[in-house]
Amino acid sequence: MIQINNVTKKFDDFIAVNNVSLNIDDGDFIGLLGPNGAGKTTIIKMLTGLLKPTCGDIYINGQKMTRNNKDVKKILGIVPQYTNLDKELTAYENLVFAAKLFRVKDYKKKIFELLEFMELEGYKDRKAMNLSGGMARRLMIAKALINDPEIIFLDEPTVGIDLNGRRKIWDILKAMKAMGKTILLTTHYIEEADYLCNKVCLIDKGKIIDKDTPDNLKKDLGAYTMEYFDNEMKTKYKFFKNKEEVIKYTTEIMSSNYTLRETTLEDVFYNFTNRKVI
Ligand code: ADP
Ligand code: MG
Repeated sequence: MIQINNVTKKFDDFIAVNNVSLNIDDGDFIGLLGPNGAGKTTIIKMLTGLLKPTCGDIYINGQKMTRNNKDVKKILGIVPQYTNLDKELTAYENLVFAAKLFRVKDYKKKIFELLEFMELEGYKDRKAMNLSGGMARRLMIAKALINDPEIIFLDEPTVGIDLNGRRKIWDILKAMKAMGKTILLTTHYIEEADYLCNKVCLIDKGKIIDKDTPDNLKKDLGAYTMEYFDNEMKTKYKFFKNKEEVIKYTTEIMSSNYTLRETTLEDVFYNFTNRKVI
């Protein structure tokens, strides 16, 4: 279990993470969803001991997370936002290097299992610098799994990857969840958080603005959204709990100039922040 208790991170006077509290249970697949600059990477860096919170504490399985807590680090797998591959080494050699760092026993077997899991068997002898974006990201995931961690942090794992590559990574992440791993992922892709995560934490400007299951977040706003373009040349949104409410409202306004659809997580975020996530 991960406990983030009132964590704030300041860079000089700038508050990048503002009094964030969050509990992550074993087996959770949690998404930190927010636009660029929201503070997602800073939170991951504090969770992995790379940055020290200005105030507040982080506990992982009851142990305080610090830069030197090797016991905790052993159970973490980290896929950082930017590449951590050695570009001159092959896919296989990158994994050997990681395995030796963690003193993984029987590492050849483990590496072949991981290469297969990531659909990279055919590319094991290709230098990391010659892998496609999606393959490189899958190799980074393999590297994070080399020591069979209980908890995996992934910082924007699908950014800049084409649709097919993204779906492949989504399947890998779902398989990891099925294996019982605890996963925390950051993303600015709303549909990614909606599709994968059993709990989503919306963050903006360093603050958690809401957290719940994707379905509850949508239900709280209203399961149905009416969208219409008004006289002020702006799109307006109105939310309804159920279809009866919609029918009552549409009979009242007697207008047909609207679109009705199910509420999405994007509506939830937009409603909170009044701007689209890009
Ligand atoms: P995200 O990952 O959500 O895009 P980050 O956590 O990278 O956001 O950054 C949050 C904010 O903190 C941004 O405004 C960023 O410019 C700032 N920031 C991050 N790291 C530093 C740093 N080392 N020094 C100063 N400001 C930083
Ligand atoms: Mg980031």
